[in-house]
Amino acid sequence: MRNFSNLRTPRNSFVGVCQNQSGFKLILTGKRCQTLKLSKIGNIRIRCHRKTEGDIKQVVIKKEQSGKWFAFLITDEQKEIKQKEIRKVVGIDTGLIDVLWDSDNVKTPNPKYLNRYAERLASCQRRMSKKKKGSNNRDKFRIRLARRYEKLANTRTDFVHKVTRYYADNYDAVGMEDIDYSTIARGRFGKSFLDACCGQIRQQMAYKVESTGGRFVAVDYKGTTIRCSQCGTEVRKEIWERTHNCSHCKISIPRDYNSALEIKRLTLIEIRQELSESTPEEMIALHHKVQQLSMNQEALTSTSQC
Ligand SMILES: [Zn+2]
Repeated sequence: MRNFSNLRTPRNSFVGVCQNQSGFKLILTGKRCQTLKLSKIGNIRIRCHRKTEGDIKQVVIKKEQSGKWFAFLITDEQKEIKQKEIRKVVGIDTGLIDVLWDSDNVKTPNPKYLNRYAERLASCQRRMSKKKKGSNNRDKFRIRLARRYEKLANTRTDFVHKVTRYYADNYDAVGMEDIDYSTIARGRFGKSFLDACCGQIRQQMAYKVESTGGRFVAVDYKGTTIRCSQCGTEVRKEIWERTHNCSHCKISIPRDYNSALEIKRLTLIEIRQELSESTPEEMIALHHKVQQLSMNQEALTSTSQC
């Protein structure tokens, strides 16, 4: 493929990048399929998933192991982001039983996609391993297996986009723990954390919240599980204990909900500190809002105790 610099990819897949602007052109046909003209290759019918804005600067052609081809069009369009006024703040705790539990007591159960797909993936893998290496039959099952993995990945990505979109649209500031999920992924529960998409959720959450003009705050994760969100007393719990019972302030709430409230409290502190570094006028206005939010949080918690 001339004009395209090839990158290292797994077997049976391909990635090519074209940066030479005379090497490609997108022709809009006004129909369902558009035409991508690539020099030395010719016209290719493509289906655009969204409207392109700005000038196209680069085209990346990718072939997945499933045999599907994709073209990524990179443009120079830059959108101006208007910063939101901070009115609604949420703290979110991540876990394996409920992927998300937020400080408004809304939880998102773990969809456990790997469990749903495990049997289909294993049967395809078994059948493929029985075929002779290098045969057409083995290749057929390799593509089938790659398509099933692709389906699993797409289902997870769709789930991540939906949950993060909800928080980006409904809140002005979102706080989550600054956990390094890439280290966890190599540990004992790595597979389960990968399946729960915790790392992907955090990454997408930061991107979506900030791209809508909101504020994403990564708070220190140390102590968020044991500290009481209402009085600050340290309440040590075993991993199987799902309720936070504080002997000091007598609060009894789900463990992850307590963590989410604690994350929200730390998020509010972080916002308050950021404000003290800005101009006095901004600081006074924001300080007032943060105080109001803290009062709302207290009111919410006392309602949940009733
Ligand atoms: Zn307490």
